[in-house]
Order: sequence, then structure tokens, then C-alpha cells
Amino acid sequence: DKLREERTRYLTDEKRIKAVTVCFTDLEGRLHMLDYDKKFLLKSADNLTFDGSSIRGFSAQAESDLRLNVDWSSFYWLPSDIFGPGKVLVFSEVLERDGSSYASDMRGVLKRLTGQMFQKDGLICHAAPEIEGFLFKGRDAERHYHETNQFEFISTGGYYHSLPGDSLRAFIDHAAEAQRAMGFQNEKDHPEVAPSQFEMNFSYSEALISADQIQLYKLLCRQVAAQLGLTASFLPKPMMGVNGNGMHMNLSLSKGGKNLFFEKAGQDGLSQLGWDSIDRILNNANDICLVLNSSVNAYRRLDPHYEAPNQIKASPNNRGAMVRIPFGNERSARIEVRSVAPDANPYLVLYTLLRTALEGPAPQEDAETKRSRTRFLPDNIFDAVRMFKGSQFISQILGEVVQGKYAELKQSSAERCPKQLGTRVKSAEIQFH
Ligand code: GLN
Ligand code: MG
Ligand code: MG
Ligand code: MG
Repeated sequence: DKLREERTRYLTDEKRIKAVTVCFTDLEGRLHMLDYDKKFLLKSADNLTFDGSSIRGFSAQAESDLRLNVDWSSFYWLPSDIFGPGKVLVFSEVLERDGSSYASDMRGVLKRLTGQMFQKDGLICHAAPEIEGFLFKGRDAERHYHETNQFEFISTGGYYHSLPGDSLRAFIDHAAEAQRAMGFQNEKDHPEVAPSQFEMNFSYSEALISADQIQLYKLLCRQVAAQLGLTASFLPKPMMGVNGNGMHMNLSLSKGGKNLFFEKAGQDGLSQLGWDSIDRILNNANDICLVLNSSVNAYRRLDPHYEAPNQIKASPNNRGAMVRIPFGNERSARIEVRSVAPDANPYLVLYTLLRTALEGPAPQEDAETKRSRTRFLPDNIFDAVRMFKGSQFISQILGEVVQGKYAELKQSSAERCPKQLGTRVKSAEIQFH
């Protein structure tokens, strides 16, 4: 509440701010935004309503009015050359009409989980996503895919390779500047392995902030690309025959400033808690696969030949394994979940991974035996939906209503695609996130 006071005072005093963009995310991970005039927002922040029935995967007609409750702890200046002048952005919680939490608002769910973890046990989860994307010729290349049936690369370079004047480099530089202006702590950026592919890394944060940043990163990349007459695409596998886009998720837990995943003498430098987390994630990999790989297109990506893992395994160096243990020290020891695609709902991903790491059913047989056997993730969304729907653990952590709703959304988007996919991406696979 102090924060709320502070920030509303800042809004009132800062004459340059004219409007506030308020965002929330639907169950499938799409970011929704509406702009409030600053003065109106300051007057009406306690009574913001919207029609949830227009948001796919939110509410049914009968329960269409939902409320927005601004989360004043999230507050971002928007660079005016990209977003227009005088705007700040905040995230908001979605509430039922009576003010109770809306069950499909995964940001709210993640926020309550991380809050409880901290209050009960002093635990903080740090997350760092590595989000890959492609840059294609033309604005709106994804939307026009069904007319042209192809994406066109804007460069031919590969890993770390581009000339300073290339369009790919120019795009990356613009986007990096926008990230800085929005308060991201940039670490490194580079052209990725496939032609016309990019990745821009920023520092880890607490899980909720990281998830917000994933939404903002995709938004600003799309916007910067559009300004250059290009399209930034986060489809997991838009082109066959080259690498796809991953969103590797690096995770660790800390308490009182101490990284609980680090143990110098532990196997691969990980603590028992680190290994328990891995074992639980692997043991429940099939149940949670639909959360990490939530689109038809995502299952095209999971092919170890293209550095995208489908093996339910952990390894320090095998990039076909879904969990990698990067070489770490006290500060950086972590696990890297590699089988996540960038079109997944980041709040749902982090919530699910956290609950799985901490309380997912552990393997029955001894972990060593279990770890050494190779099992595979589902290779199509229909199997993933079936396993998600049938999972006891998922209903325990999401509740049957959200479990059913999410499964139904995914099943129906899968049914819009032909079962035999062939080697060409179908336009029905393309969803905008
Ligand atoms: N593009 C790969 C993936 O889909 C990752 C490649 C890499 O980061 N070296 O996950
Ligand atoms: Mg990387
Ligand atoms: Mg990469
Ligand atoms: Mg990685």
C-alpha cells in the first residue's frame, strides 16, 4: 500500500506521463493491454472493469464482467520512440466481480505462490529466460503467412555472426536499447544458430518479474521489428530444416541471500535440493509437457538434432536432455529447463515448474536408475493434452476447472490443424503471442 501511494503520487506529479497501459495475460499466454488516461486511472483505480467474455479462454458469457486490480509493484516507463510519448505500463491482477481472485489469471496465481514461499520459508525463486526469436521480412509476416505460405529470412548469418550494419544487428541494437530504457539488466545479445535468429539475454530476477519481462521482451521485439518493416516471431518452429526458437528457463532457489542449489561437493556442483527438483521435474515431465509446449507448432521444435530436447533426462552437456546443469558457482548454480517454447504462458510455466520442483511426486525407484533410462516427451500435442488432462498432480496444483479449461483450449486449437502435419508449417499452427 505504501508502494501504491508512492506510485500514484509519482503519476500525479510527473507531468510527462499522460496515459497508463494496464496489462494482463490470458490463460494461453496472450498479453492484453488497455490504455487509461492518467487522470481517469487515478480517480478510478478501485473500480476498473472489463468484459472477460471477449477474451478467448477467459470467462463465459454469463460471468463476463471481470475486474482489474493494478499491481503497483510493477511499473515501467515506455520508451517514447517505440510506444509513443508519455506512457508507463503496469501489470494487473484479474478479479471476479465480487473482488475474489480469478482462477485463470496465472499471474495472480504465481504471485500468491511466490509470496507464500517467501513468507513461510523465506524462499525466493530466481528465474532467467533465454528467449529466441526469428526476424522475418515484412510487417505482419505471421498474419500474412496463409497468403504467402512462407517466411523470408532477413539474413543468412549464423551463430554470433553478423556485420555491424546488417538488419539483424540493427534490430538487436534497437531492441537492446528499448530493454535498457525499460529497466531490464541486459547481459548479452547475439544472432543465434539459424539464419535470421536472435537471442537477447537479461539478468535473472524473482520469478514474477521474470515472467513479466518475458511478456515485455516479446512485445518490444515485435514493436521494434514492425518499426523496421519486419516481423519478430516467437513461433517455436517456423521453418523446417533449421533450429527452432526455445525459451530455456534457468531456475534456482535462494534463502537469505544463499543459493540453495549450490553445493560444491555435490554431483555437478548441485545440492540435494537441486537434484530433488530435477528428479521431480523429470518424473512429472509428461504431465506438465503441455504447459511448457503449448502449441501444435511447439512439438515440431522438440528434436535433439536441432538442439531442442525431447529426452526426459538431465545432463551437464547433452543438449538433447530436457534439463541441463550449467557449470555454476555459488552465485550462478542453477538448472536449465530447455524444453520450454517461447509461445508458452510464462506465468503458468514458472508456477508449474516451481510447484513440480518442490512438491511433484518423486520417482519411486531410486533416482539413479530412473535418471539413466531414456524416456521421451510426447511428440504431438494430442498426447500431451491427454496426459495433462489425466494428471492427478495437475488437478492438485491448478484445480480441475483450470485444468479442464486449458486442456479444452489446447485440444480445440490442435483440432484446427491436420493430424498429419507433413514438413510444411500450416497456417493454423500460427498463434500470436
Ligand atoms: N534453438 C535451440 C532450441 O530450440 C537452442 C540453441 C542454443 O541455444 N544453442 O532450444
Ligand atoms: Mg542462450
Ligand atoms: Mg540460444
Ligand atoms: Mg540455454
